[in-house]
Amino acid sequence: MSTPDPQTQQSAPSPAPATTAPHPEMRTAGMLHTNFLLVRAPGGWVMFDAPDGSAEMIRGLGIRLAALVLTHGHFDHIWDAARLADDHDCPVHAHDADAPMMRQPALFSRFFPPAAGIRPVPQWQPIALPDRGAADWSVAGAAFRAFHIPGHSAGSVAFYMRPEAGGAPGARPGYVIGGDVLFNGGLGRWDFPGGSLAVLRRGIYTHLLPLPQDTVVYPGHGPATTTGHEARGNPYLRDDFDEDDELS
Ligand SMILES: [Zn+2]
Ligand SMILES: [Zn+2]
Repeated sequence: MSTPDPQTQQSAPSPAPATTAPHPEMRTAGMLHTNFLLVRAPGGWVMFDAPDGSAEMIRGLGIRLAALVLTHGHFDHIWDAARLADDHDCPVHAHDADAPMMRQPALFSRFFPPAAGIRPVPQWQPIALPDRGAADWSVAGAAFRAFHIPGHSAGSVAFYMRPEAGGAPGARPGYVIGGDVLFNGGLGRWDFPGGSLAVLRRGIYTHLLPLPQDTVVYPGHGPATTTGHEARGNPYLRDDFDEDDELS
């Protein structure tokens, strides 16, 4: 963290949403090693996803959240949402298509018994997007481009922050907070109810691969990557990939 410049602190804050921002801090928590992201937005800290143990980690950091955003409704991403909303009295944002899972996370205890204890996500503000489309979407003064990319879950959303200075040489590249859509060398599972590999791949081709090649992707599990790295090396995104093949 840099020392605030007294000059800029005294000048009137601009109300315009920030269209670029420092990259998020990525941390990992929970039994399924789920990533969550902390974005320093103009209006305060915004957290993306809420795995088990993350509320305690946030408490340890001593920061206050302005908002919680959920990339999708799977239990490992929403586990601590109710507790975070209580602790920080902050709004929660999520896509309505995952509402059944967010209202009844205990459904997942059939696959994963500890999920029986997850509290439902408190009333969230819907992230309104055209079906499988894109829209500008701001939270706490940070202006993202949001993409609806189902296929892993019906309500998966990826959030794109544009590069600094229009992508000029040496400027900070843009980034995507992608949830379980695109991983370093993999894709999110498509074998859950309502999942579809074809829909998932189409969403990635439509929305993520056209972004600048140096766009950093912060996924829901595992290490960060870039759109260019995945476009070149991800076996699921090869042109000749047969969707009937079983790679996993
Ligand atoms: Zn998931
Ligand atoms: Zn996950």
